[in-house]
Amino acid sequence: MMGRTHAASGLAVAAFVATATNAPPLDALALFIGVPGFALLPDIDHPKSLAGRSLGGLSGIPGRLLRHRRETHSFFGVSVFTALTAVAVWAGDHWAALAWLWFIVAVASLSALRAFGLTTRRSVWLPVAALVGATYVAANASWTLPVAVATGMLIHIFGDVVTRGGCPLLWPFTSRRFQLNWFRTNSPVETLFLWAFVVISFIGIGSYAAVAYATLPGSHP
Ligand SMILES: [Zn+2]
Repeated sequence: MMGRTHAASGLAVAAFVATATNAPPLDALALFIGVPGFALLPDIDHPKSLAGRSLGGLSGIPGRLLRHRRETHSFFGVSVFTALTAVAVWAGDHWAALAWLWFIVAVASLSALRAFGLTTRRSVWLPVAALVGATYVAANASWTLPVAVATGMLIHIFGDVVTRGGCPLLWPFTSRRFQLNWFRTNSPVETLFLWAFVVISFIGIGSYAAVAYATLPGSHP
């Protein structure tokens, strides 16, 4: 599955989760921004992916150490990333915790910007805003963050399972790849899914905003 389809599927699910749980506005915003980015994170196992290229040489390191569509495309990998993030949120001000949180949030936000075509060579303010935002989120991380990491990564893996190639979901216990083989990456069927996710995202975010507005204190005279 292409990066933009992964990111759009993340946005669609985030919109649904925010509406279904009636998330407070700041949490909803974190989901809308975070989940599409974390839905690109598993491909950090490939140096040429959106995630692998997001922070230059730094984000390229995992791609040299890991095998593509193995560690980060398994339930074990998702658990490790989620647990590391949860421990980092708990550890708070420790430098290693802040470094981990900053790294994954920066990779996720920069990858999402690229996936949606929001970065050009001329406009640097969005990537700069993403890096400043990553610093803010790392310093003020809440429990929404590990939830967003797990949700985004699982959405990504599901996206790869439905395309040809599949994922070794139960690695390291078995390297058997699970695949549904619905369509090939970058095929017309994938484009259809992409547009479906975009439409669902618009409807989801719109209905979240409508519900949030209707329940605002003072909106019922
Ligand atoms: Zn992948």
